[in-house]
Amino acid sequence: SSAATTTISTKMEDPTLDAVAQVTHKKLQGKVAIVTGGASGIGEATARKFALHGARAVVIADVQDDKGQNVAASIGGPDRSTYIHCDVTDEEQVKGLVESTVRIYGSLDIMFSNAGIGSASQQTVLDFDLASYDKLMAVNVRGMAACVKHASRAMVEGRVRGSIVCTASISASMGGSIFTDYTMSKHAVLGLMRSASVQLGAYGVRVNSVSPGPVATPLLCTLFKVEAEELQKMLESQMGLKAPVAGNMMSVESVADCVVFLASEEAEFVTGHNLVVDGGFKT
Ligand code: NAD
Repeated sequence: SSAATTTISTKMEDPTLDAVAQVTHKKLQGKVAIVTGGASGIGEATARKFALHGARAVVIADVQDDKGQNVAASIGGPDRSTYIHCDVTDEEQVKGLVESTVRIYGSLDIMFSNAGIGSASQQTVLDFDLASYDKLMAVNVRGMAACVKHASRAMVEGRVRGSIVCTASISASMGGSIFTDYTMSKHAVLGLMRSASVQLGAYGVRVNSVSPGPVATPLLCTLFKVEAEELQKMLESQMGLKAPVAGNMMSVESVADCVVFLASEEAEFVTGHNLVVDGGFKT
């Protein structure tokens, strides 16, 4: 039945196998992309997908230098991928990241602003630790704002019809029984994304967000102090959440595919949108 589907979906254009092969690899042809938090998890998977879909260059930005360098090296040589150390809490480093990208590769077409951290502890408002709140907000909100600011400036100055994708979370759209600061930070990401999309539309720059449900990455495993396999059971029993539609933990690739769509010209009329990718995960 999948062969039949392929025939139907390509019938309007050129149904030859060559054309079919091209379709899957052309989504990001010639584009230059930055991925913050690209050394691990969702960012790493998305950086690889960007390259797979034809991006001309993918810049990995992170604070984990060894892991980031390995991801860049596995994507290709310096003409295809580079690692740049960038702590998103430092605006000068973010500015430098964007300037270096434009200098090395000639433009910036896609910014995947994805770097983020989890709550330091399972706190409610009753035991709010405001010192760890400041630390988290500096990465998840201030860092996100710096990335959107400098990416959009480069796109506007370069007259690039660019795409910015921010990583929010299902925590952006519901109250949390714990992790109050994280929930607040992801609500703020939506405010940033929506405002930026209104302000940048006239320049042809699109701004969207992706909101993953739980996915087994170092961030979530560290948070709950468990291995990836244990995570699903734990989420169900301790947090009272139902299993996603597929019955398994979602993979980072499922999130990455959605980011590729938002980054690509297939989404050329999509802006100000929060794309929830959670397999039907509901409280
Ligand atoms: P991860 O820990 O695997 O990746 C996050 C990356 O961000 C790491 O490589 C880390 O070094 C980097 N980073 C952290 N602080 C940074 C800083 N100050 N400057 C630059 N880089 C920094 O975790 P992940 O799950 O892939 O997280 C990626 C994004 O997805 C985060 O924004 C997170 O909030 C969000 N998210 C994750 C889940 C989940 O279940 N894993 C669900 C929803 C949203």
